[in-house]
Amino acid sequence: MRGIRTTGQPRADGRNCPPTLRSLASIVTAADNKTLAVDVAIVGAGPVGTSLALALTRFCAGMRVALIDRRPLAPPPDLRASAIAAGPRRILDALGVWDQVADDAEPVLALRLTDSGKEDIFRPAFLDFSGELAPGEPFAHLVPNSRLAEALIGALGDGVEILAPTTVTGMARDAGSAKLTLADGTLVRADLIVAADGAQSALRGMAGIGVKAHDYRQSGLVATIAHSLPHHGVAWQHFRPAGPMASLPLPGNRSSLVWTEAASRAAELLTLPPAELAAEIEAAMGSVLGAVTLEGGAAAHPLRLQLADAITAQRFALVGDAAHVIHPIAGQGLNLGLKDVAALAETVIEAVRLGLDAGDPGALARYQSWRRVDVAAMAAVTDGLNRLFSNDIAPLRAMRDLGLSLVDRAGPIKDALIRSAAASSGSGPRLLLGQPI
Ligand SMILES: Cc1cc2nc3c(=O)[nH]c(=O)nc-3n(C[C@H](O)[C@H](O)[C@H](O)COP(=O)(O)OP(=O)(O)OC[C@H]3O[C@@H](n4cnc5c(N)ncnc54)[C@H](O)[C@@H]3O)c2cc1C
Repeated sequence: MRGIRTTGQPRADGRNCPPTLRSLASIVTAADNKTLAVDVAIVGAGPVGTSLALALTRFCAGMRVALIDRRPLAPPPDLRASAIAAGPRRILDALGVWDQVADDAEPVLALRLTDSGKEDIFRPAFLDFSGELAPGEPFAHLVPNSRLAEALIGALGDGVEILAPTTVTGMARDAGSAKLTLADGTLVRADLIVAADGAQSALRGMAGIGVKAHDYRQSGLVATIAHSLPHHGVAWQHFRPAGPMASLPLPGNRSSLVWTEAASRAAELLTLPPAELAAEIEAAMGSVLGAVTLEGGAAAHPLRLQLADAITAQRFALVGDAAHVIHPIAGQGLNLGLKDVAALAETVIEAVRLGLDAGDPGALARYQSWRRVDVAAMAAVTDGLNRLFSNDIAPLRAMRDLGLSLVDRAGPIKDALIRSAAASSGSGPRLLLGQPI
């Protein structure tokens, strides 16, 4: 067993949710297979959309959800593993999913940062976070994306109507209801439509919500590496002139690599034979993990900062990458998306329990105010870190190294940083604390 297990606390699944008008209507319209009436229609069955469908139906019996995706509902090919911080891990636990991925999850026991120039061979650690958030609770775990997708899809129950593969061709909303038209002519009526369709969200465009975006002109080259030395649960972040390179521990002598490089250089690296690419990786990380070989292939993801101008509109909400895309320097994009899920599920379920509908404007306003500051703060931090470290200007390096070593010696600051990265401080939605809604 690699990851921590659930506490075994009793769950209060599906409590206190009266049947809604939509859920009764869905029975009435079931005979007409061209119309489906649900409480919430979620477009996008990635990890965020699937988690939301699960949260809404697990904690609100009778809630009807449609989950729509342009791809068949199956784990997509993905070489990445995600660092899941302690708070969002509790969300997965409350959703009943954590136990399904625990055997494939690796705890992160320490984080070491190095700052190196182009030619440096030796890479001393300037900042070293280690220890647990609470006894038995590491501040993060690494989980292969494909395993997480498989577990989330496998956990979906009867309350979720899956419509995939299909595309949305139209959306209409007014004060009374919302509608989606699908490519095969199906009409989905809902009280609330949620866009979980990723960075290029078509639904966000249909709702007329713009974005502020900045292209980093960098790519994140990802691969799984095997190495001759053990990682001892250490996540390494090597700050290099073109961008950070992270190796994140996986079970065994294996790590997940996220190497930020200029987009053109990343494209060149992808053309190398596996042994040559492995040699480049080994040299770039200063041999801290010994000899490196590649397991499977490598892929490159374009990197950008992108924030939606609003995350709610009439009977409409954005979650996950549809709402915000940040640099993977701190491994926080999916963590933010899971926190969106915890907040939106709680505000919607509480509205329905009060006899309101799932698209209640008060519930959406509460969701927006709950998430706005956290998302803006994380976007600013990751953008600032990437700008500060993605260069080789000597005076700037000296200043940032001094800053890192001062932080390293200041215990309370380090504790605060760990708690913030673990998303475990302050008051938040109940799922983030591992409690049922
Ligand atoms: C290199 C890299 C490393 C990362 N590492 C981490 C990490 O360690 N930790 C972390 O927290 N985050 C990490 N992230 C961020 C994380 O991967 C994303 O934040 C997360 O995948 C977003 O999930 P999502 O469900 O919102 O969107 P997606 O995963 O993009 O899913 C969107 C879904 O919508 C569907 N879709 C798209 N368009 C339509 C349409 N028009 N109609 C119907 N369906 C549609 C797609 O098929 C897909 O299923 C990393 C990102 C990168 C690039």
